[in-house]
Amino acid sequence: MSTLDLQLSDSLSALEKAQRYRRRRIVAGRAGTSMRVDGKDCITFCSNDYLGLAEHPSVVSAFQQGARAWGVGSGASHLISGHCREHHALEDELADFVERPRALLFSSGYLANLAVATTLTSSGDRIFEDRLNHASLLDGGWLSRAQPVRFPHADVVALRALLTDGQDGRSLVVSDGVFSMDGDVAPLAELAGACREHDAVLSVDDAHGFGVLGANGRGSVEEAGLDSADVPILMCTLGKAAGTFGAFVAGSDALIEYLIQRGRSYIYTTALPPAVAAATRSALRVIRDEGWRRERLAELIGSFRTSAASLGLDLLPSRTPIQPIILGGESTALRVSDALREQGIWIPAIRPPTVPEGTSRLRITFSASHSDSDLERLIEALAGLSQEQA
Ligand SMILES: *Cc1c(COP(=O)(O)O)cnc(C)c1O
Repeated sequence: MSTLDLQLSDSLSALEKAQRYRRRRIVAGRAGTSMRVDGKDCITFCSNDYLGLAEHPSVVSAFQQGARAWGVGSGASHLISGHCREHHALEDELADFVERPRALLFSSGYLANLAVATTLTSSGDRIFEDRLNHASLLDGGWLSRAQPVRFPHADVVALRALLTDGQDGRSLVVSDGVFSMDGDVAPLAELAGACREHDAVLSVDDAHGFGVLGANGRGSVEEAGLDSADVPILMCTLGKAAGTFGAFVAGSDALIEYLIQRGRSYIYTTALPPAVAAATRSALRVIRDEGWRRERLAELIGSFRTSAASLGLDLLPSRTPIQPIILGGESTALRVSDALREQGIWIPAIRPPTVPEGTSRLRITFSASHSDSDLERLIEALAGLSQEQA
């Protein structure tokens, strides 16, 4: 073995010993919430396809038509020859949907977050991050030349104190709208108030709120009754509730133009396939037209919480499709996840470093396509486990 391989093998054994080694499971087939996983038929409670749009007939057909019209790949980045009419129309429709002057498509949410952090700050600036922000937001902070400052989760009092600690330069405050591992919603109105007082700019990553929260599915900012003056920078991903792929940043004309000119993770990467943009345009119409999907989701979440509470399970204060059950150690979380899989329920164990030490968990997520009997099976399986542990 080469020295490199020996060193890597050592690090891998250490991960294994700490029960933090991750294994990919192979999905052999998928129909709605049913998947064949490593040879076993399972109902999945771990997808981010919250509205069930990844397999929606109109979305699939738009994708097929898009591929026929445009081929498979975009062939270039947006600033060369990859920016097609489908992308441009989707940007207009997204901007209209989130009620902002413009939107800019990115090839993934990870890239969008890197662009916001690195183009809008430079040395002498500060980026304030909630401790539980998504890895891509934290990475954006590290990659920028600004000074990253983390504040305790959802603690606006602490944030205010940090902002007061005056300094020249721009202050960018960044938060998940819905926290991806806990499912709680950020205190957006308070964050916006603190930013207003301290002349800071608020940027919200609404990967898990877009399509799901708010009367029209515009997300956590809509739900909080805020507008673009309160949250000048809004990032949403399209691989979750929209069921497709990619992401966008929405905001003012100047913001979008600046990201186009300066966003390295916008400029130096291949544009999304235009067929994906076509599929997303169709998904956006479904989000607008089929409000029952959000209602169904809310109904499932409500029934789950009532049943889980009556089993004595400890739930987090979440009103979103993300409903984690904290189990503590890595080995417990792995054991429970394996036991559920034996019963045909697929919920992977989420362990550090994705979540803080000692908070390994099952991260249960719901989709509008879960049936009542899917939910019953989940509750039965969890009831069996909680009896075993008692
Ligand atoms: C999924 C996610 C991202 C990354 O989006 P991709 O399009 O999957 O790269 C960013 N932020 C949050 C909060 C997410 O949950």
